[in-house]
Amino acid sequence: MEKMTYCTKCKDTVVISNAKYTRLANNRAIIEGFCSRCGDHLIKASIMPKSFTLKVGRK
Ligand SMILES: [Zn+2]
Repeated sequence: MEKMTYCTKCKDTVVISNAKYTRLANNRAIIEGFCSRCGDHLIKASIMPKSFTLKVGRK
């Protein structure tokens, strides 16, 4: 499934190219990639995949 987010340059919802999950130091996961239209760097706050969440566990 394609990952999409809002690009502030295109002022439209665009497909994130080269989308990848990145985990921040505070354990939050984001999707990072580039706008498929203008090539701008995009970051989308993401809900972690379920398998990922299970590995992290809960407090
Ligand atoms: Zn764009």
